[in-house]
Amino acid sequence: MTAIDDLLHRHVTGVDLGAPEVPTPVPSLHLAVVTCMDARIKVFDVFGLRHGEVHILRNAGGVVTDDVIRSLAISQRKLETREVIVMQHTSCGLSLITEDEFKDELEKETKLRPPWAIEAFREVKDSVRQSVERVRRSPFVPHRDNVRGFVYDVHNAELTEVI
Ligand SMILES: [Zn+2]
Repeated sequence: MTAIDDLLHRHVTGVDLGAPEVPTPVPSLHLAVVTCMDARIKVFDVFGLRHGEVHILRNAGGVVTDDVIRSLAISQRKLETREVIVMQHTSCGLSLITEDEFKDELEKETKLRPPWAIEAFREVKDSVRQSVERVRRSPFVPHRDNVRGFVYDVHNAELTEVI
């Protein structure tokens, strides 16, 4: 039995009780949260979120990539969000690898060097600043007055504003 099988079983045994009660795709807080895919981050708990309140965009690192800009452009232009939180975290996997080492590893194994950036970083605060700047400078994201960046400490749940 795979993990997917397990989740399908959980679904049919009643975890998802009926269709979503939120009637609109527009998040009620008009806010998008960009964060890491790290399984330790309980995004809903970190901000006391309720279903339907925000867009949550997750990837490795919580880095603002072109694809995150794509989602933010849709989020703001079509679904009425107006603010952005970028939240990266301590002990992130991206701080344990380097751009070249990981690309070398992939190339050696597959004979293909990926065209995309790994977005590895040494200092998480620098990475947060970089991501926030990418949003603030993007012409595709029209609402850039309230774009704020944070580091979440996965050991003590402390949230520190960086920019
Ligand atoms: Zn991470």
